[in-house]
Amino acid sequence: MSASPFTPTRRESVTAHGELRLIALIRRWLGDASPRSPFGIGDDCAVIPPTKNQQLVTTDPVIHGQHFDDTVPPRAVGAKLLKRNLSDIAAMGGRPVAAVVSLALAPDTRIAWLRGFYLGLADSARRYSVKIVGGDITQGPKGFFGAFLTLHGESTGRRVVTRGGAKRGDRIYVTGVLGGSLRGHHHRFTPRLAEGAWLAGRPEVRAMMDVSDGLAKDLESLTPAGLAPALDAGAIPISAAARRSARQSGRAPLAHALGDGEDYELLVVVRGRRAAPAFERAWQNRFPEVKLTAIGTFAPKNHLPAGALRLADYRGYEHLR
Ligand SMILES: [Mg+2]
Repeated sequence: MSASPFTPTRRESVTAHGELRLIALIRRWLGDASPRSPFGIGDDCAVIPPTKNQQLVTTDPVIHGQHFDDTVPPRAVGAKLLKRNLSDIAAMGGRPVAAVVSLALAPDTRIAWLRGFYLGLADSARRYSVKIVGGDITQGPKGFFGAFLTLHGESTGRRVVTRGGAKRGDRIYVTGVLGGSLRGHHHRFTPRLAEGAWLAGRPEVRAMMDVSDGLAKDLESLTPAGLAPALDAGAIPISAAARRSARQSGRAPLAHALGDGEDYELLVVVRGRRAAPAFERAWQNRFPEVKLTAIGTFAPKNHLPAGALRLADYRGYEHLR
């Protein structure tokens, strides 16, 4: 089934409406996901009330041809735009608060498609308690659709968890299963907000990030100088989608799990080995349905155990390559 954002028929396109009419439509589509000004659309800026927590900001787009294609329904595209930003808030243990959305729209963008996009965005915003408080529309070139969301959030407890802080001997964990995301997970995933907030409250968690570009690449950002991840290839949780992709590509399922990207799972570094059993039991009690897998440890770069996975052989997705 095809859901192209574009139409050759002028009266079905955004050009048939003026900008003001389009903004009125967008506000209607967003409904109560978009509050009135000043905490919402309608003034020069949206006003976000102060809180005592640390403030978080992140931004990520969805661009046609890059983050979705015509096989993805417009509602799922709108939801994905918010969820990929939510995954970043989750990765620091935060909770989301408010978002602004900028669109770069081709004149031949289909109104019905755009409506689906905003309905999906609004559904997702309600579900995760995010207010859409502002935005902007710019005309883009023919055949271009890009939506850019900036998400504000705040810490849920005393701290936010960063990518820095891993030490020699620390354990590396990953939530869920990896690979084959293009088969649907890339827009159907649930951002790990509850998990991230819980992990930030655990003192044995030293560092965290979300897996967006593939484990093989993302893990580099968690690795301190002088150390290297010593991963057990047999422990990597490979998704059924990665196995299906492997049957088509002729590559190993492990290569898909490590390199495909858009997993939106959490990579977690946990202090030492001794903390592991209690940590794993606590996870099991709190999230019995969510898989958490110990995949390796951080070891000195020059003393990697024999048989440790060579990550360089499984380069992840690289932007602008
Ligand atoms: Mg991220």
